[in-house]
Amino acid sequence: MSKTPISVAYGDGIGPEIMEATLTILEAAGAELEIETVEIGEKVYQRGIDTGMAPNVWDSLRRTKVFLKAPITTPQGSGYKSLNVTTRKALNLYANVRPAVSYHPFVETKHPTMDVVIIRENEEDLYAGIEHRQTEQVYQCLKLITRPGSEKVIRYAFEYARANNRKKVTCFVKDNIMKLTDGLFHKVFEEIAAEYPDLEHETWIVDIGAAKLVDTPENFDVIVLPNLYGDILSDVTAQMTGSVGLAGSANIGDQSAMFEAIHGSAPRRAGQNIANPSGLLLGAVMMLVHIGQPAVATRVHNAWLRTIEEGIHTYDIFKEGVSTEKVGTREFANAVIQRLGQQPQTLKPVLYDDDGKLRQNQGVSKKKSVKQLMGVDVFLDWGPGNPDELGNLLSQVSVDSLRLQVITNRGIKVWPNGLPETFCTDHWRCRFRADNEAPTTSTQVIELLKRVTEAGFDVIKTENLYHFDGIPGFSAVHG
Ligand code: NAD
Repeated sequence: MSKTPISVAYGDGIGPEIMEATLTILEAAGAELEIETVEIGEKVYQRGIDTGMAPNVWDSLRRTKVFLKAPITTPQGSGYKSLNVTTRKALNLYANVRPAVSYHPFVETKHPTMDVVIIRENEEDLYAGIEHRQTEQVYQCLKLITRPGSEKVIRYAFEYARANNRKKVTCFVKDNIMKLTDGLFHKVFEEIAAEYPDLEHETWIVDIGAAKLVDTPENFDVIVLPNLYGDILSDVTAQMTGSVGLAGSANIGDQSAMFEAIHGSAPRRAGQNIANPSGLLLGAVMMLVHIGQPAVATRVHNAWLRTIEEGIHTYDIFKEGVSTEKVGTREFANAVIQRLGQQPQTLKPVLYDDDGKLRQNQGVSKKKSVKQLMGVDVFLDWGPGNPDELGNLLSQVSVDSLRLQVITNRGIKVWPNGLPETFCTDHWRCRFRADNEAPTTSTQVIELLKRVTEAGFDVIKTENLYHFDGIPGFSAVHG
């Protein structure tokens, strides 16, 4: 077998020790790897590089397209970019895959039969990082959900489920509230689910879904969800298995992929040969499957399971009565190496095969709808004051082509016929529509903005109201 080039970063804190242990095990197991070492993390940040990545890292990643990364220490203070976010976005790593598996009775957990895989959308949602302060009182963060982004991660989740003999894919959204953004994610989920009739699928509203998940995780299998919910719930599920120190993670794109442990650099544990290398090792197992070395992945994973069930544990999972031997990082790695070729006796052995390779890069739909401008939401910095006064003033600048229809404050209707009890900030959304809700034009919107500005108002932003194939692309105003 020819060697697969991979980029390897040793990271900070416990990073170098757990990477050393991981690579030693991979080598002993017969992994065919050509390692390019790259420098990332604290020292690079300290050299004034705000991404935390040495300049040649991108060259290496472009060449190898596979990144095995130990945790880094993120410096405190502003001015530093998150290395993980930069890497995910630059390499278009749209799916974050985190298996959460219990190893009962060898690792203590309240959920002994848990075996869930969280597949989190990795680039969009509130993590687009588009935030603005708009008035004295109000700040905004844009939640962006795209059709191609949703299609890619959801299709990946179904492909993953099929390739790994999983039975069900569950979607978590909050589309009872966010009807357009989470609504899109849900809609795409239903569309793609129809292409996989061999797999069960279901959708939960994220709040009750999360409650069910932490109560009875055995009822879940693969879960796909937007970025923020996934960020939170993947940590929750990792903790539920008994230890975040045991979980690995894969960040998958069509071109490249990054593999890591989910924990950080634990600086206080560094340099003492005590850290648990398991999270990074299980990340590396996912890497071996990804690069087409499933037999090595199987050998490593089963030897690791055998080590865990024989009670050979690092300090973080060591428990009197369950564990048999407390070992350091290097000794743990040696114990895994000694068990290469063995299967676990109590825990379920794993078997990765070539069929485990996923079909990727299947493109996304490129449908084009007919888009029609139907009005505008004009956001004003005003007051705080009386909504009726604002309504009267703005009605005077309205014309037939764009007439003030409604004003909301924090999404609650305050004009016309608002309730006096409603608390108002200095941030007003004023919706203008043509008479009879007919279409309008950009020129009319610009003329409206001119009149509003000339009347002395502070326009902080506008949002155009479009119909797509006749369907409103904006939320209705309630109240
Ligand atoms: P952490 O995960 O590094 O450590 C929390 C605690 O968990 C540690 O004190 C330690 O007791 C334990 N722990 C974690 N991993 C362990 C292991 N492999 N073996 C044994 N014990 C382990 O979280 P933190 O202390 O909040 O963060 C430390 C640094 O790591 C910060 O600079 C943070 O920004 C960074 N971080 C990096 C990544 C990454 O690179 N992917 C992820 C999370 C945090």
